[in-house]
Amino acid sequence: MSFSLDRFFRPVGTRFRLFAQSPVLDDFREPELVYVSSPRGSLGPGPSDERMYALSPIDKKPYGDEDLPPFRGPKDAPALPDRAGHFDHLQPGDPGFEAAHMFGTVRRVLDVWEVYLGGPLHWHFAMTHPRLELIPHVAWDNAHFGWGFMECGEGADDQGEKRPYALNFDVLAHETGHGLVFSLVGMPTPETLTTAYRGFHESASDCVAMLSVLHFDSFVDHVLRVTEGDLYVANELCRIGELSETRQIRSASNALKMADVISLDTPPNKVTGKQAHTLGQPLTGAIFDIIVDLYLDRLVAFRLVSADLASTLRRAAKEDALEQADDRALTDAYRREPEGFRRALCDARDMVGLRLAATFHRLQADGLTFERVARSFLGVDRELTGSVNQALLADSFRWRQIL
Ligand SMILES: [Zn+2]
Repeated sequence: MSFSLDRFFRPVGTRFRLFAQSPVLDDFREPELVYVSSPRGSLGPGPSDERMYALSPIDKKPYGDEDLPPFRGPKDAPALPDRAGHFDHLQPGDPGFEAAHMFGTVRRVLDVWEVYLGGPLHWHFAMTHPRLELIPHVAWDNAHFGWGFMECGEGADDQGEKRPYALNFDVLAHETGHGLVFSLVGMPTPETLTTAYRGFHESASDCVAMLSVLHFDSFVDHVLRVTEGDLYVANELCRIGELSETRQIRSASNALKMADVISLDTPPNKVTGKQAHTLGQPLTGAIFDIIVDLYLDRLVAFRLVSADLASTLRRAAKEDALEQADDRALTDAYRREPEGFRRALCDARDMVGLRLAATFHRLQADGLTFERVARSFLGVDRELTGSVNQALLADSFRWRQIL
């Protein structure tokens, strides 16, 4: 039921070397060879195509309200494809590697979601800017997506060493997620902007990152190996935007409920960026729980674990009693049949990805509420598979106080 992007695009696509996670993590120090959908030979210097282009300014401040792409200042030479049209000859440290990494990663994330959506994504800024400008380095400790651009600064790791966000898959995928939401859900007017919309934007972008990274085989294997198949154990899947082995920007397996975040009655223009991120956490947590729930369901369907064990673990997670729960039958089963576990996780990933993409398609930015997001998700699921998953999904939203 799940699909493999590399298998899809290997015959005709373009090769890039991408880090599946921040190279600060021991298991992800080497970039991986992946195929993106750009037809071989179609990418120009930058890389660039008719939808986006990367460039490397020599010295640039982040874009603000008034100034917009295209960047016209001095810049380094563009990354060039090899004779066959690929970009995987570029290695970390080579000039142009960061630009190629940023382009390849954004393209990879678009590939994931365009498969879920069943068609190409159109930039919401296309009326003034036909192409997205990608800037791998500006003097800033952040990254952002705006009208016609995405640009990255750098963040310090635990040793104080500056790490470019252009090499951090989660950060790039999160920013691409903002582009996806703007394109599919739209932009409200100042009158119809809700506080929920701001939190939803951040949550949706984290969910886009979480599901996109699961399209790296190495990442799926890593998560299953370190958790021995028990996804309730802390792992990289729920750590979004790792800055070190122990520190990350956000966690998807959080226990936040709507009562723990700022009131939705707060005027949207009074919500700080940080509050908007926290406001999105209960929804991100609900989606994370749903991935794990559906994964356990698949394991039961594949007869790898018993239905009893799956419900015991689910209950323990909800009651914050995982420490006491006995997951040995699960981890034993993983050691016997890792391939079945991998299939279960990829199935759960694509079930949630398909539902989320269709949900984005249906939602409207004007007057958006979290309840509407949950109801749309449930509606999509009902149309796809009837009542099978409904109780499980509704439970997750209810536990977070979204429904
Ligand atoms: Zn964001």
